[in-house]
Amino acid sequence: MTIQKRFGVSMPDFVSGDKGLLIGGKWQPALSGRTLPVINPATGGAMATIARGGAADIDLAVAAARTALEGDWGRWKPHDRFRLMMRIHDLLDKHFDELALIETLDMGAPLTRSRNMRGYMSQVVSFYAQQCNSANGEVLGNNLPGNWHTMKVKTPVGVVGGIIPWNAPLMSQWWTLGPTLATGCTAILKPAEDASMSALRVAEILQEAGLPDGVINVVTGLGTEAGARLAAHPGVDRLAFTGSVETARHIIQASAGNIKRLSLELGGKSPDVVFADADMARAVPGAGMACFANSGQICAAGTRLFVERKVQDEFVEKLGVFTRGLRVGDGLDPKTDLGPLISQRQLDRVTRYIGIGQDEGARLAAGGGRPGGDLADGFFVEPTVFADASNTMTIAREEIFGPVVTVIAFDTIEEAIMLANATDYGLASGVWTQNLTTAHRMMQGVKAGTMWINGYGAVDPAVGFGGTRMSGYGWKGSKEHVDSFYATKAVYMNLS
Ligand code: ADP
Repeated sequence: MTIQKRFGVSMPDFVSGDKGLLIGGKWQPALSGRTLPVINPATGGAMATIARGGAADIDLAVAAARTALEGDWGRWKPHDRFRLMMRIHDLLDKHFDELALIETLDMGAPLTRSRNMRGYMSQVVSFYAQQCNSANGEVLGNNLPGNWHTMKVKTPVGVVGGIIPWNAPLMSQWWTLGPTLATGCTAILKPAEDASMSALRVAEILQEAGLPDGVINVVTGLGTEAGARLAAHPGVDRLAFTGSVETARHIIQASAGNIKRLSLELGGKSPDVVFADADMARAVPGAGMACFANSGQICAAGTRLFVERKVQDEFVEKLGVFTRGLRVGDGLDPKTDLGPLISQRQLDRVTRYIGIGQDEGARLAAGGGRPGGDLADGFFVEPTVFADASNTMTIAREEIFGPVVTVIAFDTIEEAIMLANATDYGLASGVWTQNLTTAHRMMQGVKAGTMWINGYGAVDPAVGFGGTRMSGYGWKGSKEHVDSFYATKAVYMNLS
């Protein structure tokens, strides 16, 4: 095997060859024998292949997950699961540099960003490990005639399907893996076809930690094939989906057959509101990165940037300078601030929206183009600022999922709240102000699952996050999330 070095970084062996499916503890090709290429978004070149799992592979994986659930795993003590999860935690940490590199090669994020996730990964996995003892039932008072001993007990909900997005798969797979392992469920992960590698490497690490066969199965493949079968499968009890609203509609319909318990984390068009009294030295880069981080490929990205009119010109000018100072490049380059988009499809989508913004009459205050030279073959786009826009423009209504921010002026706090809420989504929001009353009024008025004040983007796994309206339902993180992996049972025992 030839080891290539780029930007001084050696390519990991893992990102080469043909990757299989993990079903019932065994790595195997898709039953059809078909594969999909693994594309490096920074170069457009193929690096490896993943198996193109289909409906029949999903059927095998669901059967393996059911067998594991009804076998030994179902009798594991919470403390044994805790010890397993801590072994997994330690192995993830040990292999983290490799995992970060795999993530960067597969989906493009700057390596500095992927590596920075080490501490967060540790927090998320530890949080769920601490939930292993969370199947706490309740003994309730006796309200019924006679002498009843009444309890509420919790049992694992069963076989879980996790449909994972491509924008940060190394982390986001843990929102399914964590609660599955903590509660004693079993799962089938269907990573996104554009970024499956970190899920496959993590699956090897789970095995190395001693995970019993069939507890976690990984079936790579297309959403319309493997994903659709997982959503429809009568043997899946609960489905966790993260992705687009359009796909969510298919999932809801597909899941109707056996009335699966669903959680949906979908898109957003999150408002980020800058008041005139904000500390501009923090608000400019803060609001810029609220949209541009991960090249704008974050559901909670602050893409509608409302700026109080009296500071609008100054703010847009400073934001333009900040934006032009960001370096777009290969994620392996330590100087890179923004990596490529995930795929040609996303590049086409983002450039189409940049064209729509111009056609609609918004003013291009920074970016808008594509870098050439060494970057011409990758899926790169410049971070882009549209100014003098209105909240009714397409670029202010539809999720672009790229580094494109739309600046819209407002005059009063009432108007800011009205505009912030004038969207179909409700995932996240941000406020920049030094006035406590303004911050509190925004907190009361804005309809969104999360609000950050004088900062943006951090999520404590013990607090969690989730959306309202078309951003979906089902909270991720916190005990509320863990609870959604349990089925509750009422038990009445007649003692009379
Ligand atoms: P995007 O359009 O941004 O790629 P998607 O919502 O299509 O986002 O993809 C998110 C995840 O959903 C991926 O793992 C993808 O394979 C999966 N997916 C896509 N279409 C379907 C479908 N019809 N049923 C189930 N899963 C799907």
